[in-house]
Parts: sequence; structure tokens; C-alpha cells
Amino acid sequence: MTAIDYQAFYDRSVSDPDAFWAEQAQLIDWHHPFEQVCDASRPPFVRWFAGGTTNLCHNAVDRHVATRGDDRALIWSSSEVDREEIYTFAQLHREVQIMAAVLQSAGVKQGDRVLIYMPMIPQAAFAMLACARLGAIHSVVFGGFASHALANRIDDAEPVLVISADAGSRGGKVVPYKPLLDEALRLCSHPPRQVLMVDRGLSPFELQPGRDLDYAQLREAHRDAQVPCVWLPSEAISYTLYTSGTTGRPKGVQRDTGGYAVALAASVRHIFDGRPGETFFSTSDIGWVVGHSYIVYGPLIAGMSTIMYEGLPTRPDAAVWWHLVERHQVTVMFSAPTAIRVLKKQDPALLQRHDLRSLRNLFLAGEPLDEPTARWIAEALGKPIIDNYWQTETGWPILTLARGLSSGTPKFGSPGVPMYGYKVQLVDEQTGAVLDGANQKGLLVIDGPLPPGCMQTVWRDDERFVRTYWSSVPDRQVYSTFDWAVRDEEGYYFILGRSDDVINVAGHRLGTREIEECIAGHPAVAEVAVVGVADALKGQVALAFAVLRDPAKAATQELALALEGDILKKVDQELGAVARPARVRLVAALPKTRSGKLLRRALQAVAEGRETGDLSTMEDPVALEQLKAQLAAGG
Ligand code: AMP
Repeated sequence: MTAIDYQAFYDRSVSDPDAFWAEQAQLIDWHHPFEQVCDASRPPFVRWFAGGTTNLCHNAVDRHVATRGDDRALIWSSSEVDREEIYTFAQLHREVQIMAAVLQSAGVKQGDRVLIYMPMIPQAAFAMLACARLGAIHSVVFGGFASHALANRIDDAEPVLVISADAGSRGGKVVPYKPLLDEALRLCSHPPRQVLMVDRGLSPFELQPGRDLDYAQLREAHRDAQVPCVWLPSEAISYTLYTSGTTGRPKGVQRDTGGYAVALAASVRHIFDGRPGETFFSTSDIGWVVGHSYIVYGPLIAGMSTIMYEGLPTRPDAAVWWHLVERHQVTVMFSAPTAIRVLKKQDPALLQRHDLRSLRNLFLAGEPLDEPTARWIAEALGKPIIDNYWQTETGWPILTLARGLSSGTPKFGSPGVPMYGYKVQLVDEQTGAVLDGANQKGLLVIDGPLPPGCMQTVWRDDERFVRTYWSSVPDRQVYSTFDWAVRDEEGYYFILGRSDDVINVAGHRLGTREIEECIAGHPAVAEVAVVGVADALKGQVALAFAVLRDPAKAATQELALALEGDILKKVDQELGAVARPARVRLVAALPKTRSGKLLRRALQAVAEGRETGDLSTMEDPVALEQLKAQLAAGG
């Protein structure tokens, strides 16, 4: 196909969405065919493939057993414990049924929530697929989150069961999970009835009688279990996944079953150019949306092998990923710009040591892809580097190039063009007017209904869904991405950053409010602001500015450093290392407007050494001057 064909493909997706998506829906198996493609009678809510029944696990596993049962489905590779395990579709089918039987024996039923707090081990994928099989709603919480963050998410999801493991491992260092989980269960108000523990033998732990179950033991008891898939209505909730917003309370992004399955099947084929029997390697983590869509569900639904990698990109050396690409003949690889920047610091010759001919494209997402990084990896690999822009909320790319359909040329700095199904617009935030001209900066919004695969609502909070995402511009209901963007003369979009307080650290999305609330809870802190500042490696890092109740507590440099360490420890223990600010600056005052609103942009500008812009609304310009002086002096 040519680039022109993509335009026709796109146009049809928005001019005749019913016909378009009815065709895409043939990429998956339906138990009962759908009666209506798109029910958008209650905007902004939408039901895709109404009347149809299907099952994600059936589409990812069972349907491939007859035709490719001996093909590799899940390739688990860990450079942390130096092991590799390969499961064919038939073996995966067995393991998922065993896990499903174990869940059933623990009383898990359709519609129940199961929270998964696990490192990157095969049992995490079995658990997700087993939940899907039973119609239980999984909620995976990234292993890098600690007890408070976990407790908040448990209270929101109210799971009947939590699945966890003794420990993860990072850079060869064991990271115990059980103590964090036990603490979270002590803190939360809705503890689950039971905890299912997978013991990897990395970190000894005690099972709490009456609550904790041992997976290995139960696995033995259910080793021959036959557990059929439960046929679910297309709109049945498959999972919730927490993501950060502007408040301290994380949002449970809720996704359906049928729409998601279709969106993934279509995107693996049209966007990622992945074909059945080939291998997909996404370096993300199951705790993030990329892990859900493109480690677990997407590749398997498409009949591909998927690599689940536990470890760093640089251990045992910076060729570890390329070694996997060569050994498993990876055709589709998906990673994040930060990882490439980490590799860039290493010897490029490491890359050349491997035969990477199988690889067709390298897809990068999660944060802005800077041109030097894109150029470096494009030259080093000799393959197209495809930036793609999307969000936890959408589940699959909004802007990119559909590599399975056309050879559209990548443009440095741009993730590309709108994907089929997304009615992308740039609007003026104040007036809501659509900006049709080239090179006009606007808020990137999507006109409803959102295509299949996107979030249905905020878990248990329809009102928050509408208020947060659909009320950004006056007089019109459009979905806001909260990103600024421009479009050039050729229709390519460029993302310019968030319009809210969400920051992006190494491709991980963090809410500054959650970090602020944690630091504000420190007894020495009177007031705190957390902003994201530019970082050469991670894109952004969080930087905290704290005003002390008693400035004498930081009278000497030793005292100040000790206090900073103590505050950072609190963040580590409560939210997890992933949320830890690079520094906590102890300052005399925070810059505010006359109405008392914190001037985050000014703080950010000062921290990045930029001009602060118009400060006429500022209450106390002295605070900012002091801050500048303090930062300049390295305070
Ligand atoms: P998450 O929900 O964690 O995937 O984060 C989504 C946010 O990350 C988006 O709203 C953007 O701010 C940012 N983002 C994701 N992908 C890209 C990209 N390719 N280029 C620029 N920003 C991106």
C-alpha cells in the first residue's frame, strides 16, 4: 500500500465507522455475534459491538491451540535470575487453566476484582489471562509502587483477592514485595479476603494463616483442571488500570472486552505490522498500559509469540535486548526513549554484534522522542524508528504511522498522523474553537465517540470521567488528552507537553499531587510543591520544593541534607522509588499568585534555568527571586 491508501483507510474509519469496525471485528472470535457496532446513544459513553459475546483469553490463547498449539506463545527471559522459560500456546493454555482453577478455588467469580502486584514473571501473565478467562476484573499495580500507593489502589478496586510474589529483582538486587503488600493490607480499609503468593525463592516470607495461599501447592492440586472461558458481553469490564491525574487520588481507567480485543488485533496488524507466528518484543512492564496491550494481550491475540523480559537493558551488558531480538527472530520491537538514551551511553558496537535482520521496525512511546536519540538509534539499527503517541486511557496509539498499511515516512520530532478511528483535533482551550491552520498550538482533543479499546469510564465514577476528560473546552463535549500539540502543513503532529500537572519520568506517568500529599505529611514540612523539570536521560524528573514549619531544622547543611534524606525515605516507603523526586529543595517560600495559587510554571522555569515570563499576578515576587538565588548558589 502507499501513503495515499492510508488516508483512504483513515477517512473510511471516520466517515463510515460502523462498516469499518464491523470489518475489523472479524479479526477476533465472537461466541455470539454483535447486533450493533457502535451504540453512542448516551454520549460520551459508548458501547462497542453491543449484543456480542466474546472472551479475551479465548482470543489470546484458546483459539490458537488447534492451529498453532506447538508455536511459542510466551517467552519469559530474565537477566535478573538468568533464566528463560518458553510456553507454547498449548502449554500456556494449560497454565492459564490451572491459574483459573486456583482462582476459582479461592472463590473468585465473574465481576470480582483481582489485584495483581507482581514482578515480571510468567505467573503474572497467567494471572491476567486467567482473570480474563473467568470474567474477573484484574487491576495490575506496578511493582515499583510501595505500600501507601498500593493501599489506595486496593481501596478503590476492592479486590476479593490479591496475587503477589515474594520478590522482584532489579540490577541483581532482590526487591521484596511481601512486606510492602502486608503493610498496604494493614493500611487499607477494604482488605481482600485472600492473598495468593507465588514463591520464586528469592526472599523468604511467612504465609498469614487463613489469608495467604501458596500458589505452588494449589497448582499441584489443579494441574489437570479444565476451566472453560466464560462468554462475556462485549462491554464487560476486562480490567482497570490506575493512572495519575491532577488530584492525589489515582483514576481507575476501565476497559471493556470486545472493543479492546478488536482494537488490539487491528493495531498489531495495521500499526505494528506484526504477523501470526512472528515474535513481538515489548520492553515495558505489565504494570503499565503498554504491558497490558503489547506484552500480554495484543501479540497473543494476533497469534504472535511475545517476549516478557525481566531486567535492565544494560545487564549483563547493553546488548542483552539485541541478543533477544536475534535469538527469537523478533520482528516487532517496542520500547521507550529513555531506554534508548540509556543504551546510547554504551558502546554502539554492541549493537552491531548481533544479526538484527528479522526486525522490521522499532516503535518507541511513552514520552517525547528527542531527535538526537531518534537519529542515533535509527543509524545504529538501520531500521525505521516509529514514534507513537497514546495514553493509558486510549489503550493503543492515537498518533503514529500505520506500518502494516503504508510506508509513510517518519519525521523526526513527530509521532505521526492520527490513527484510524481517532477524530483528532487541535482546539483553543479558552474558546473551544477548532484550529484548522498549520502550526497553531492547541489542546489535542478527540471528538467522540472514542474508537474501540479506549477507556469506558473511570472505575465506579462516571461523573469523574465526564468532568475530567470531557469538560475541558466550553460548549462542546470532546475528549481531552491534556497534551498541547501543533500540526504541520503535511498533517504531522508534534506533542508539546502536558497542560496539567502530570509529569513524565522515564516514560512513567506520575501525578505531582500524589507526591506532594506524601511529602506534606512529613512532620517538618509546612508546604510543598512538586514540579517536573527537564532531564537529559529521563526526559523529566520530579523536583520538590518544601517550606519547613521551623526553618531552624535546616539551619546547617548537614541538618538540611539529613532532612532531605528523611523526606525522600518517606516517599520511597509510601509511594515507591518510582515516585521519588530527584531532590527536595528546602526553600523560604513558594511563589504564588495573588489569589494564592501556586505558580508551578514559574517554579519549573526557575528550576530549568529559563525565563519565568509574566509575573504580574504574583503575590510575592521576592519569593521567586530568593528561590533563584538559592538555586544559583546550589542551596
Ligand atoms: P501514559 O498514560 O502513562 O501512557 O502517559 C501518557 C502521556 O505520556 C501522554 O498524555 C503524553 O503526555 C505522554 N506521551 C506518551 N507517548 C508520547 C509520545 N510518543 N510523544 C510525546 N509524549 C508522549
